[in-house]
Amino acid sequence: MKYRSIAIDGPAGAGKSTLAKALARVLGFLYVDTGAIYRTVGLAALERGVDPADGVAVSELLPGLSITMGYGEDGLQHMFLDGADVTEAIRHNEVSAAASKAAAIPAVRDFLLEMQRRAAAEHDVIMDGRDIGTVVLPGADLKIYLTAAAEARAERRCRELRERGQAAEFDQVLAEVVERDRRDSQREAAPLRQAEDAVVADTTSLDLEGSFQLLLGLARKHLGLTEGEGHE
Ligand code: C5P
Repeated sequence: MKYRSIAIDGPAGAGKSTLAKALARVLGFLYVDTGAIYRTVGLAALERGVDPADGVAVSELLPGLSITMGYGEDGLQHMFLDGADVTEAIRHNEVSAAASKAAAIPAVRDFLLEMQRRAAAEHDVIMDGRDIGTVVLPGADLKIYLTAAAEARAERRCRELRERGQAAEFDQVLAEVVERDRRDSQREAAPLRQAEDAVVADTTSLDLEGSFQLLLGLARKHLGLTEGEGHE
């Protein structure tokens, strides 16, 4: 049986995970947050005192790392690093930059590819990240490139960090978002870019509900959903 897949790529803070999670719930698909997997590698480097941008040192770490993904009773994706649940820890702001640095290392991307493809081979998935439509699932049934103006994304990121009780200052968050986009788009290994057959969804002037309806409409259209699927 062939499972269905939706790939959502785009820059940091475009709302990928919030929207993908909501869409997965409505469609009954598994939500796979691939950024969380890269974040786990970033966290591992930080915890071991390794510079996440050091390709040689990070590559040497990889064989000794156990990175696994599981789904809790809440239906949400949890990340485990050497058996410890790091789902919360990987959300810290310094881990974002560490993940983006480690993600530019080809050996890191190779190491994580199989895990991502396996999830899509075993379930209907909505997978979000930077290279899902271009590299991980080039045959996805629907590819969405989700984007928004950098200021709007920084605004949302600030709100998200504050909700988690972390300090967030707009100018600094904006600078970090812009820097992460630059690094993610300009790296040689699987850079962030729109797949040729992706549908662009710009959420700059849309609220969450408006963005969700846009994506749900695309999913219904492209996946030929049956009666009962795709209804809240
Ligand atoms: O999506 P999120 O912001 O959690 O991702 C953290 C970092 O992981 C990104 O900035 C990017 O460098 C990297 N990443 C990636 N490829 C993916 C998902 C995330 O390179 N498919």
